[in-house]
Amino acid sequence: MILPDGTLVFPWHFRPAQVAEGAMLTEWYELWLSTILPVRPPPTRDRLAGSLIGQCLGDALGVVVEGYSRQICEEYVEEILLTDKAGTIGRSPHSFGQYTDDSQLTRELVLSYIARRGFDAADYGRRIAALFSEQRVVGRGRATTEAAARLAQGVPWTLSGVPAPYAGNGAAMRAAPIGWIFSRNDDALVRTARDQARITHTDPRAVAGAVAIAGAVSLALRAMPGTLKPDRMIDRLARWVRPIEPGFATEIERLHTLRHRDPDDAVWLISRAGLRSGDAEVAGRWPSAEGTISPYVVPSVLWSLYSVLRSPDDYMQTIRIAISGGGDTDTTAAMAGAISGAYLGLDAIPRPLAERLEDCGTWGFRPLLSLVDSFYDVLTRS
Ligand SMILES: [Mg+2]
Repeated sequence: MILPDGTLVFPWHFRPAQVAEGAMLTEWYELWLSTILPVRPPPTRDRLAGSLIGQCLGDALGVVVEGYSRQICEEYVEEILLTDKAGTIGRSPHSFGQYTDDSQLTRELVLSYIARRGFDAADYGRRIAALFSEQRVVGRGRATTEAAARLAQGVPWTLSGVPAPYAGNGAAMRAAPIGWIFSRNDDALVRTARDQARITHTDPRAVAGAVAIAGAVSLALRAMPGTLKPDRMIDRLARWVRPIEPGFATEIERLHTLRHRDPDDAVWLISRAGLRSGDAEVAGRWPSAEGTISPYVVPSVLWSLYSVLRSPDDYMQTIRIAISGGGDTDTTAAMAGAISGAYLGLDAIPRPLAERLEDCGTWGFRPLLSLVDSFYDVLTRS
């Protein structure tokens, strides 16, 4: 059957929620179904477009206040985003619509997949290096910059990643397309998200963060509109992350309770999540490590997930929550936007703002949609 949004519904989309409540029973049901129907349908073109545009717009809205305190970010949310003034200010020297490294690197991953007809870490590494060496990158993280320099010198991708204890969110922020590619294969999803991360980051927390974001996007794509089960998503993500970084998995599980707390409370707890003494350099770059979301991968990924789970049916509210956490707002809004857009589809994203997206005069709304079309064609023919 075909829903009004054009989504094709297969029998195995019907969860046994009508039959029995409870995640455990549902999981057993899915496990049983997977033995007789091993192939899930691919995601729809509309949801993929929602994920890419959702990421780019979250990035463009968030970068306006990137690095600022939570108080300033909350003022931006209340006085600009909540008063229909979104898009009236950009981040100098750019006007509104410019997205940053998060979405540039995501776009390059999509381009690599199309060119190589699959994920090719070596090709993606070359594209990361080119983005930096050609001075096309807008905003940059330390680890990705260092790894890009190594890649440009000919270091293979298996050795180019920055070692622990650097654990920024650079690998997580570009991981969404891995969730698009492997929405039907969990083992490949986790394995490829790890490889994707290792190109620039080798700290297991940074790798786990990439698995969490790719996984969340994948689960969002699989959920029918209005059927997202937050507790099931949390459990799945924790299960995928645990073999890589058990402490991160435990932090993800805390979202079971944190998602019921107001943002003002939750941000204090999440901003300190996973912090160890050696992480001060990452967290301390920001106006206040406590109460502001730093680029450290644990709190920034958790805050992005929280923003989605807190408002799963409203893209702009998800973006507002992400930005209200302050600090690394372009990245938290980009990651949250990629998940929310994957779940809600393109029509949930404000079109007038999305149509102003750009990257220094290139790769605006229409070219990004064409990119999704090309990706979809490769995905569904492979
Ligand atoms: Mg950025």
